[in-house]
Amino acid sequence: MGSHQNSAGADQPEPASRMTSSRARATTSEEWLDILGPDRAAILRAKGTEPPFSGDLLHMRDDGIYRCAGCDAELFSSGSKYDSGTGWPSFHSPVDAASVEEHVDYSHGLVRTEVTCSTCGGHLGHVFDGEGPDGAKRYCINSLSLRFLASS
Ligand code: FE
Repeated sequence: MGSHQNSAGADQPEPASRMTSSRARATTSEEWLDILGPDRAAILRAKGTEPPFSGDLLHMRDDGIYRCAGCDAELFSSGSKYDSGTGWPSFHSPVDAASVEEHVDYSHGLVRTEVTCSTCGGHLGHVFDGEGPDGAKRYCINSLSLRFLASS
């Protein structure tokens, strides 16, 4: 008895990034608000929409990847981004079909298709058939739902 100097070990937190682990664990709106801050939480967790022409990624033209601001998952590449003139960052396709999910959205008296992050469930924006270049889809995505990582 008492010969073990260190009996800990079962519940040690992993030495991974604290940000990543806290995001993976976040389940309540209070936790998300703490992680994301009020502006991003209003979009990602409360399905808000940023005002048109307000987002800081609207005119981004650099090469890189647009990641989910909630969980860091890769969502869109710069190659699919185009200027739709609508006031929100627009993409003709996600980086992978499995990276986003689509849900019918009846809010505001409209029938639209909501786009969410497949990984964290965060609200990204909406997708519209046939409104993209050459009849492609238009993924209309809030800047506040995204973080841009330039390719080096
Ligand atoms: Fe996410």
